[in-house]
Amino acid sequence: MSHVIRGRFAPTPSGRMHLGNLFSALMAWLSVRAQDGVMLLRIEDLDRARCRSEYTEQLIRDLLLFGLDFDEGGLSKPDRMGETCIQSERSAYYNEVIQTLSKKAHVYPCFCTRAQLHDVNAPHLSDHTPIYPGTCRHLSSEEIELRQTARTPSLRIEVPDKTIVFDDLCQGHTEESLASSCGDFVLRRADGIVSYQLAVVSDDARMGVSEVVRGRDLLSSAARQIFLYELLDETPPRFAHIPLLLAPDGRRLSKRDQSLSLESLLIRFSPEEIIGYLAAFSGLIQKPEPMKATELIPLFSFDRIKKDDIVLSPSFYHA
Ligand code: GLU
Repeated sequence: MSHVIRGRFAPTPSGRMHLGNLFSALMAWLSVRAQDGVMLLRIEDLDRARCRSEYTEQLIRDLLLFGLDFDEGGLSKPDRMGETCIQSERSAYYNEVIQTLSKKAHVYPCFCTRAQLHDVNAPHLSDHTPIYPGTCRHLSSEEIELRQTARTPSLRIEVPDKTIVFDDLCQGHTEESLASSCGDFVLRRADGIVSYQLAVVSDDARMGVSEVVRGRDLLSSAARQIFLYELLDETPPRFAHIPLLLAPDGRRLSKRDQSLSLESLLIRFSPEEIIGYLAAFSGLIQKPEPMKATELIPLFSFDRIKKDDIVLSPSFYHA
């Protein structure tokens, strides 16, 4: 087996990148380049209503502007399966993976409505996500047939009462109980679109990804993903969940934060100045100074990257 690290950046092209997206791309790229690995790009455009191919093209232009290049998966550089990984084109493959999973675990149709799932009396996680109580887990085949005439179900996978333990390269020792952190989760929505968890594991496994660097907001997904890897007899990647960049009032950045959109930032700063700011925010350098991405490669190590979210100063945010 090859020991070359294969890392990836997997953006959702629902608008032009903001600073937080660029930060994730930079950290994933630096880790791969510091280990002489292979960097992949995957376009996560399952949400057809929000994603557009113009955004994908812009995204690749922006990444290259900041010196972040790809060895596989960029639009002119197919991945090792000879294709560019665009998730909206892979539904047949995802459905095969669901078939495989249904031979290994209990995958079942769920007819619950949004209103039932979001019932205020049901247990919720701190981020308000409802924990699925298992309502449809044991429906009889007659009940399933009857309900199917009135409503297309989603598909869920039953989770065991098991705690997943892993060492995150950035956040350290992490434990999460599948049953109490999310319950049985969705593999395919009622509208036929597969879930993020299913698509990401199917693709990372098929692309041979061995290192996943992404924002801390996805830390709670890692346990579900490791569970799917185990069912598929695949080795999970090493995970590094990096801090999020936050607005001065503590909010997470979004594509709506106009002052940090790449359009506005590139009016105020050169690409090298922006890379220098990101390097200083992350803890890689002491003070912001213009840097090329390649100049940061020898400095990179997860030990130097901050663990806690990074609150941007009002002067940077509004400048
Ligand atoms: N597509 C996700 C995003 O843009 C990232 C998924 C991942 O890195 O696992 O937030």
